[in-house]
Amino acid sequence: MSNGGKPDYYEVLGVSRNASKEEIKQAYRRLALKYHPDRNKSPDAEEKFKLISEAYAVLSDDEKRKLYDAYGHAGLEGRYTSEEIFKGAKIDIDEILRDLGFGLDFDSIFERFFGFKMGSPFFWQESRGREPVVVDVNIGLEDVLYGKRVEVEVPTIVQCGICKGTGVAPDSKVRTCSVCKGTGQVRRVIEQSRFGTFVSIEPCRECNGKGKIVERPCTTCNGAGRVRRVERVDVRIPPGVDDGTMLRLDMHGKGRYNDASEVYVRVRIRPHPLFKRSNSDIVYDAKVSFTRLVLGGDIRVPLLDGGYYTLRIPPGTQPDTILTIKGKGLPKLDHYYGHDRGDQLVRIVVKVPSPSTLSERQLHLIEELDREFRE
Ligand SMILES: [Zn+2]
Ligand SMILES: [Zn+2]
Repeated sequence: MSNGGKPDYYEVLGVSRNASKEEIKQAYRRLALKYHPDRNKSPDAEEKFKLISEAYAVLSDDEKRKLYDAYGHAGLEGRYTSEEIFKGAKIDIDEILRDLGFGLDFDSIFERFFGFKMGSPFFWQESRGREPVVVDVNIGLEDVLYGKRVEVEVPTIVQCGICKGTGVAPDSKVRTCSVCKGTGQVRRVIEQSRFGTFVSIEPCRECNGKGKIVERPCTTCNGAGRVRRVERVDVRIPPGVDDGTMLRLDMHGKGRYNDASEVYVRVRIRPHPLFKRSNSDIVYDAKVSFTRLVLGGDIRVPLLDGGYYTLRIPPGTQPDTILTIKGKGLPKLDHYYGHDRGDQLVRIVVKVPSPSTLSERQLHLIEELDREFRE
């Protein structure tokens, strides 16, 4: 299933269309090892690595895989941004890359691919500790009316409880490195000539410059001394929030975040099928028949809170007229304690029925009216 020349994800990973999750993961591991830009310096390696990572991000996610199986690339393109394609799989990809010994670097690779940073909560490197962590929360427009309590999952890093942060298995010994005698450095003769002996001092390879060798690293944290833990945090989203509003989370007393990074919840507001937002007002298109516009009368208009409002249309109302239902919009963020709300704006749209939906009598009356107007 190819689209615009974009290769098939299954072919990219070299797996069959009914490959299991584990097979997909193994294929990705194998290819990541081959094409990771840190290891493969050929000019197209980065592009290949990006493609296999993208294929893995899609095929390892049940929902995205389903969409891809059904509609190909077109099924994903309208629905996800590049950032969203990678989002769910990122923690998994990080883990695979770390496992392969590439460090914890998918963020910077991602930045290189797309020129922007993932709005992702997963920063595992100490050097990144001061960057804010952003967790997205999606709410409906109707939730903007009264606000909403949501529980968000924030990935944190805490000290490994098994090794108490040392990275050493509890029953393992730590011995002094015999190669460097604990100094962490070795002297190496690089040239011996009649001018003298040149030596360089390098970090000891045996102990990675640490001077000590851990016989067995802690299996819980793989020697890192830290483990990930997902903390659930209750967030109260205030009424009247805008799309993109950032709320700072109080992580006090929750699992320690890496170097006390700030954690934010970014509020995303889903589009509503009936209402559009215009600051604190909401706009509703009411379809009204030509005859009702001429004669005037009452129409039933849905409200954001689920109720209805009977709106009077004056005789001779023109299309695109905007009628206002006072105080039925969204709370104004600064005044929501006082229940100060915007308005619901009703835009009048003419309903034009297609002739096939009309009864014979209706059609006849319209034809007659039409003749009347012409004369
Ligand atoms: Zn540990
Ligand atoms: Zn050593």
